[in-house]
Amino acid sequence: MADKNPELSDAMKTKLKPKIFKKNPIIGTKFTIAISSAKGGVGKSTFATNLALALKQINCKVGLLDADIYGPSIPKMFGINEKPKSDGQKLEPIKKYDIQCMSIGFLTDQQTPMIWRGPMVTSAIKTFTQKVNWQNLDFIIVDMPPGTGDTQLTFSQEIKMDGAIIVSTPQQVALLDVKRGIKMFDKLGVKILGLVDNMSFFKGDDGKKYNIFGEGGVKKTAEEFDKEFLGEIPINPEVGKSGDVGKPIVEAKPEHEISKIYLNLANKIKSTYIK
Ligand code: ADP
Repeated sequence: MADKNPELSDAMKTKLKPKIFKKNPIIGTKFTIAISSAKGGVGKSTFATNLALALKQINCKVGLLDADIYGPSIPKMFGINEKPKSDGQKLEPIKKYDIQCMSIGFLTDQQTPMIWRGPMVTSAIKTFTQKVNWQNLDFIIVDMPPGTGDTQLTFSQEIKMDGAIIVSTPQQVALLDVKRGIKMFDKLGVKILGLVDNMSFFKGDDGKKYNIFGEGGVKKTAEEFDKEFLGEIPINPEVGKSGDVGKPIVEAKPEHEISKIYLNLANKIKSTYIK
């Protein structure tokens, strides 16, 4: 019989076999949205932080959960150096820019590589979803690690996820992995809100658009899988600079054209969930 999912490894197919899972909601939030990417370096964390800040700007109460256990970026992107307090039962999220944040990077030395095995990842995720004192939130934005590994599986099977957004660049090599990601969320019954084409082009001083990583691939993939295409975010050096100094562009320059793209997206997400 023809293999319906040639992109998925045999191990992943076994893991994805239908099982009945009890999905727990994260206590303290109404909705949980995953930001996922198939590959690292496509701008997933940049997207997660800026989307969180854009949702805050339109009066949502937002939490940011950095579930990228192997390469947490939220501490740097939000400029957070402190450790979360604990009352012995629950960890207090750290509040920055009016957003409740939690990251494995708050608890570990950031220069030490994380060598974690599956069960440890699962247990860290359980801590972050069940043992953090998230308070009164409309949305938790989860910054997932890249790929289709244990974190995605644990979240999708055990946590009530209300939606996922997949971020990619238009490069062919990234798109192959995107297809794998779409199939994983579809199989696990997580609603994909749509695909975002990040770093889709660079606009030069001459006003011309340069398609550094190719053109139209993310939109085409969205169409192929019958998912919504949520739009393009151009390459802009300001995005990188703001992330590097711990104040993402939406917070640093809310009037910037890139910030406006995020605000539009935030409005769209808000109106999808909050009537
Ligand atoms: P990921 O989480 O997918 O690994 P990051 O969010 O860390 O990716 O982004 C990778 C790099 O690309 C960072 O240096 C970030 O500042 C930069 N970057 C992301 N999006 C943009 C953009 N739209 N324009 C310019 N630089 C970007």
